Amino acid sequence: MKRFEVVIVGGGINGCGLIRDLALNGVEGLLLDKGDYSSQTSQGSSKMLHGGIRYLENLDFGLVQEALEEKNLWLRLTPHLCFEREFYLPLYTYSKYRPFMLKAGLLLYDFLSHFQNRPHAMLSKAQALAQVPSLDERSLLGAGKYYDGVVDDAKLSLECLYDGLLEGCAQAKSYCEVTQTRKTPEGYEVSFRSLKTGQEETVAAKFLVFTTGPFTDLLLPKLGIPWTPQLLPSKGIHLWLKKGTIEAHGSVVLTTRDNRVVFVIPQRNSILVGTTETPVDQEIFDIRATQDEIAYLLGVLREYFPGAQLDESAIISTFAAVRPLVREEGHTGALGKVSRFHKIYRPDQSSYVLIGGKYTTFRRMVQELAQEIVPRLGHRYRPNLTLNPLRQRSLMPTFGEKPVLTRELLRQIIKTEYVTTFDDLVRRRLSLLEGPEDLKDVLGLPVAEVRSFFT
Ligand SMILES: Cc1cc2nc3c(=O)[nH]c(=O)nc-3n(C[C@H](O)[C@H](O)[C@H](O)COP(=O)(O)OP(=O)(O)OC[C@H]3O[C@@H](n4cnc5c(N)ncnc54)[C@H](O)[C@@H]3O)c2cc1C
Repeated sequence: MKRFEVVIVGGGINGCGLIRDLALNGVEGLLLDKGDYSSQTSQGSSKMLHGGIRYLENLDFGLVQEALEEKNLWLRLTPHLCFEREFYLPLYTYSKYRPFMLKAGLLLYDFLSHFQNRPHAMLSKAQALAQVPSLDERSLLGAGKYYDGVVDDAKLSLECLYDGLLEGCAQAKSYCEVTQTRKTPEGYEVSFRSLKTGQEETVAAKFLVFTTGPFTDLLLPKLGIPWTPQLLPSKGIHLWLKKGTIEAHGSVVLTTRDNRVVFVIPQRNSILVGTTETPVDQEIFDIRATQDEIAYLLGVLREYFPGAQLDESAIISTFAAVRPLVREEGHTGALGKVSRFHKIYRPDQSSYVLIGGKYTTFRRMVQELAQEIVPRLGHRYRPNLTLNPLRQRSLMPTFGEKPVLTRELLRQIIKTEYVTTFDDLVRRRLSLLEGPEDLKDVLGLPVAEVRSFFT
């Protein structure tokens, strides 16, 4: 039986971030995921690296400050995967915020970033309409302007994984579902089944870590881990709209009648719109957007952009994911109000569970866990190693100049970026917006030929 110091279950951003941090500190780790890496929540976010301006309302200043520091770090380290974007927050006569309140919030946001954010501005009605010409001008007072980051969420996780694997002491297996665990005097035995071959394998680990996000509450009891449900799973969907559907020279932050926030973020030759926030109790693996949820988002857009052609023909594709929000004692209000703090649990001496938090702060969350595990394994923990740049870049960057996709480049991506299926390739390595079933070609290469690489 193969032995590892740590086995991590779940290869989203938290699992990929953790295997990197552990590997940089010399730990022999194995990461297992039931699907492709980063194919669940960590590819279904609003793709923002942000402090979370609306969490200022919850007085979560510590969380906002930490997230702003992390946002600015990743903007520096991975410019091919993220960039800074202006956000416009329109103010109407009926808006919840008065202009002075917005001004105070934006000032505080800049302050919490240690003034590393590009400075905010308050815009008049004419200035707001010049930047977002599609905006409904009736009752419009003006807008606040501030800056946040846009990220390719799937790819940042992948590059963290590639960086960790370069150390040589870490391994990872995708399409391997963990089906059983057994507590032993030395730690755990972990059994998993390959979803490609059906083959089963058992490995031994001194520590077992779950970074299974919204899947945690359902999975742990099945595996016999002592666990009381901790999550308030909340589904959010997004739309990719055709470029030009809405005329905006930056991102727009809309407040809905039910006091939610919908972001409209131009990127990748398209416009990303999201999100919704609804409780879920069904099977959530590969969850999809429903027609009602799509209609809800289109309805919000029609209110704010009355002149835009907003029907289903404007949609390129949709995606959905479930937030792993941690239940707070006595919480009864809206899901949007639930804190985005993370928690680390220790069900027994040899296991850990990391849940909650935000994508933006993953490095800090996994660091908190790594600095506990690494010394328990007898290694010295060096906290600054994760501040270094990631060493293996995706061959097809998401932003900036892209190489022409040749057959040779495609073969290289498949070989060096741990690609198993056509879906892995088009969605997460090439970051295409159309679903694999809707593609006419793959960046100029015939779909049938590219599919043939996987048969
Ligand atoms: C709609 C929405 C919008 C969001 N927007 C933002 C945003 O703009 N900015 C931000 O900072 N954060 C955002 N977030 C939060 C962020 O996306 C999540 O906090 C983060 O992606 C969670 O990552 P994770 O690694 O914990 O979970 P996941 O990415 O879900 O990873 C868990 C993994 O566990 C695997 N798994 C499950 N069961 C098994 C098993 N039996 N065996 C092996 N593997 C298993 C799954 O396949 C999955 O890959 C958003 C979240 C949602 C849902």
